[in-house]
Amino acid sequence: MLKGKVAIVTGSTSGIGLGIAKVLSGQGADIVLNGFGDAGEIEAIRAGIEREHGVRAVYDGADMSKGDAVRGLVAATVKKLGRVDILVNNAGIQFTAPVEEFPAEKWDAILAINLSAAFHGIAAAIPEMKRQGWGRIINIASAHGLVASTHKAAYVAAKHGLVGLTKVVGLENAGNGITCNAVCPGWVLTPLVEKQIAAIAADKKISQDDATKQLLGEKQPSMTFVTPEQLGATVAFLCSPAADQITGTAISVDGGWTAQ
Ligand code: NAD
Repeated sequence: MLKGKVAIVTGSTSGIGLGIAKVLSGQGADIVLNGFGDAGEIEAIRAGIEREHGVRAVYDGADMSKGDAVRGLVAATVKKLGRVDILVNNAGIQFTAPVEEFPAEKWDAILAINLSAAFHGIAAAIPEMKRQGWGRIINIASAHGLVASTHKAAYVAAKHGLVGLTKVVGLENAGNGITCNAVCPGWVLTPLVEKQIAAIAADKKISQDDATKQLLGEKQPSMTFVTPEQLGATVAFLCSPAADQITGTAISVDGGWTAQ
């Protein structure tokens, strides 16, 4: 379904981004993987995607905290693979602390990676997509793009900003063949959340299992994690003709979190 398309998925060496990259390549898209990690493991992921799906998969280690590197990722993709059709802005980090104790450098890093990187990537990709008359931009926001929680000032601010950016880009490109949407996941069991479960377990002196139940019980009525595969399928839907008129919106995949 996506044969001949080129997709960049930022932060795709792990978790949700990797799930999205696998689903898009499974539909025939050539993939640009990005993110940090062990070189050998990343190469195994890259080669595995090529082998399994018969697509081209390349890895680019651009640092999403640096605007020039983000723009460079888009330029390098066009150079290497000839085009860019799908941009999934997924790379993200988390840090928790009360706002008055929140380290300024953590605030800057979260805003840079979780919000500004999407701005730079979108700005670089839009001219290519306009030339082609087709493009899909999907910003992986969060339930925290729609509602808040304590101790997540930078993350909540960045994700709300990302939902706002999504609306502007959707509006500016309406009728261009380019759509821009946000996907807002609830809890997904990835390294980013495993760290938060470990922190609850240590803080409350409870088991990992009990900490997991507490994490889900506080926010996610389904009491079940969303999976990277489900988010990949949501992104693939947004790339399908059925979604041609869906733009500037935020789609929740959150087990009921934001219905409360
Ligand atoms: P993760 O930690 O498993 O993966 C994050 C990815 O981003 C990794 O590939 C990492 O290498 C990459 N990354 C981090 N900093 C980077 C940088 N400076 N440059 C390039 N790559 C960088 O996390 P995840 O849970 O898969 O999160 C992915 C996205 O989903 C994030 O934007 C996160 O905010 C969002 N999200 C996660 C959840 C959840 O419950 N896990 C819920 C809602 C939204």
